[in-house]
Amino acid sequence: MKVVVVGTGYVGLVTGACLAEVGTDVVCVDVDAAKISRLEEGILPIYEPGLEEIVTRNFKNGRLKFSTSLEFSIPDAAVAFIAVGTPPGEDGSADLRYVLQVAREIGHHMTAPLVIVTKSTVPVGTAVKVNRAVKEALQDRSASIDYDVASNPEFLKEGAAVADFMKPDRIVVGVNNDRAAKVLEALYAPFLLNGHPILFMDVASAEMTKYAANAMLATKISFMNDIAGLCELVGADVNKVRKGIGSDPRIGSRFIYPGIGYGGSCFPKDVKALIRTGLEYDRRLRILEAVEAVNDDQKKVMFDKIFRHFDGQLKNKTIALWGLSFKPNTDDMREAPSLVLVASLLEAGASVRVFDPVAMHEAQKALGDAVEWCSDLYHAAEGADAVALVTEWNEFRLPDWKRIGARVLFDGRNIYDDVTLHKNGITYYGIGTIQPS
Ligand code: NAD
Repeated sequence: MKVVVVGTGYVGLVTGACLAEVGTDVVCVDVDAAKISRLEEGILPIYEPGLEEIVTRNFKNGRLKFSTSLEFSIPDAAVAFIAVGTPPGEDGSADLRYVLQVAREIGHHMTAPLVIVTKSTVPVGTAVKVNRAVKEALQDRSASIDYDVASNPEFLKEGAAVADFMKPDRIVVGVNNDRAAKVLEALYAPFLLNGHPILFMDVASAEMTKYAANAMLATKISFMNDIAGLCELVGADVNKVRKGIGSDPRIGSRFIYPGIGYGGSCFPKDVKALIRTGLEYDRRLRILEAVEAVNDDQKKVMFDKIFRHFDGQLKNKTIALWGLSFKPNTDDMREAPSLVLVASLLEAGASVRVFDPVAMHEAQKALGDAVEWCSDLYHAAEGADAVALVTEWNEFRLPDWKRIGARVLFDGRNIYDDVTLHKNGITYYGIGTIQPS
């Protein structure tokens, strides 16, 4: 079976590479010609553990190809995945311009029956719009070719995308008929050997499932951040509270860690888009409105702690940031809380030294020469008045505290403990923990 994946970003490249890895012939198509030619030279546009290896292997064995031309790639394909971006529009709704542009292009160039699958995160009703766009494009050229439009939202996590794709918890597929279901069942069979299910449902439910999943995860984060804020005020320790509630299987221990707010390309935009969908149907999603508001505030929490610690005097102070990406194991800087922290520190007159194991290149695009770029965590901490742990990369977990001159540490992810820090003469601020008096 030949598959075309349109959009070669986090989702498209991982999808294409993993499908090729299990024996499918794949062409990854992107409008970004520079990205495609770099991929052909073996240079990946993103960092994702394990991805480079499978891209290289499958490119060499000829199962994975790259192209800028949908026209040449689509004719002999059985399945076309649409995996382009759906950024937030001005009103928060998902901007479907790229998805529909690809749908039209597919309609212009397809020559044989095709299953067209939206993998991008798209609001309910998008499959209907994709269907219309393909139909109109076919009509324009007076062509009559069978096709199906299916929805197959992607649940991979950045930082573990290859592992998630190869061994998914579940695969959700929205279809209108058996024909598309059979094609996708065959395509995904190699990924379901671990016994996890492929869940077939109607298209609207599949589209909704993705938003509901991300909205629930964002809710868990904002809930814990809200509880963490209260813990600080009442003198409780959220780390203990987290363990206390997480041992109840109805709550579960995963994804209830407080921090400095969620970021990335998905939660912020998907929460916004779902709120927007609600408004289109005259229904306010009040929980999600609060989730968003709590998150906006949470991104400022670390700055507030630093500001208070230094009595508002941040001029001539140097703050070292450990980590910049919105979470570990990715170079993705989209909506990263670090950007909010850096902006506030600079505005308050502080100097900022930064280090991230893989996101420096991406971060430079946003921060330029406003900060000092350092070669490792110790270099960043050199001469700093305080260290702020922003992203919980593994290599930050056990620093040699003797090499850290700063006497205060702000831990945005609660990966350290106050006892160890105090032993090393460092004042410790966690999130939702007992704060130094
Ligand atoms: P991305 O920005 O990394 O990649 C999108 C790619 O699409 C870019 O390379 C861009 O050049 C290309 N593109 C845009 N218009 C095109 C066109 N007309 N033809 C061909 N290529 C085109 O985006 P991403 O992070 O991979 O996200 C893609 C979609 O998947 C979004 O809807 C996102 O919400 C969803 N999603 C993302 C993740 C994630 O972790 N990043 C997880 C699940 C779902």
